[in-house]
Amino acid sequence: MILEVTGLVTRTVDLSESDRMISLFTAEKGMISAVARGSKNYANRAMAAAQLFCYGRFLLYRRGDKYWVKEAELIESFYAIRQDIVRTALCSYLCDVLNDTATAQPEPELLRLALNALHAAASGRFQPVQIKAAFEWRAAALLGFMPDVTACRDCGRTEGNFMLYVMDGTIVCDECRASLAEGPEQPGEHVVAELLPPGVLHAVRYVLFCPQEKLLSFRLSDEEMHLFARAAETYLTNQLERTFRSLQFYHQVEEL
Ligand SMILES: [Zn+2]
Repeated sequence: MILEVTGLVTRTVDLSESDRMISLFTAEKGMISAVARGSKNYANRAMAAAQLFCYGRFLLYRRGDKYWVKEAELIESFYAIRQDIVRTALCSYLCDVLNDTATAQPEPELLRLALNALHAAASGRFQPVQIKAAFEWRAAALLGFMPDVTACRDCGRTEGNFMLYVMDGTIVCDECRASLAEGPEQPGEHVVAELLPPGVLHAVRYVLFCPQEKLLSFRLSDEEMHLFARAAETYLTNQLERTFRSLQFYHQVEEL
């Protein structure tokens, strides 16, 4: 059985001198694994496409319980990402989010989000922190964790200073928080909350609902970007109930 798919290589594991297992996030079949043979031989065309961050067309065949790469044609290598350690770390983390969440179901919007993020990272036109945070908010929404950021959970107010309650994905305004008996600062209470001042809240609403191709068409001050990114990461990793080694590595190199 031959299977033709278009996909992004989100993980590679060398099995031997010549064989490499790749995870492919495909438009047609969601996440699948396949073995690329002779992929370390640079004369091999499949090799060019069997590398991390490569997007291409793959012809697979099935033998036993595994898919094997028969042919591959590179569409986009996102080569520029690999020339910068922060962007490489960022995109490794974005791929790990896909590796952790993608299933055998096609998720075209999630694939498009990932490709747009890789394009932005390769272009060098956007700060890694902006790409990362916009991806995290939008990925959370696509994965079924859309936060309710339209209005205060308690009074319905839509403008002002808010806290995002990370566990249930709701926002609460300053006034309601002041009147809450148990605020996030209460000792012994395990409440994770992130500050969302007006500019940051507007940016969160924007990236959750804008057309995908305009995902990065917003600006924030450095201070706002910091809050926007912190809330994005806290929210996504809490919803996924895990963290990532690649995320820790990103933060290490980001600060260099
Ligand atoms: Zn309120």
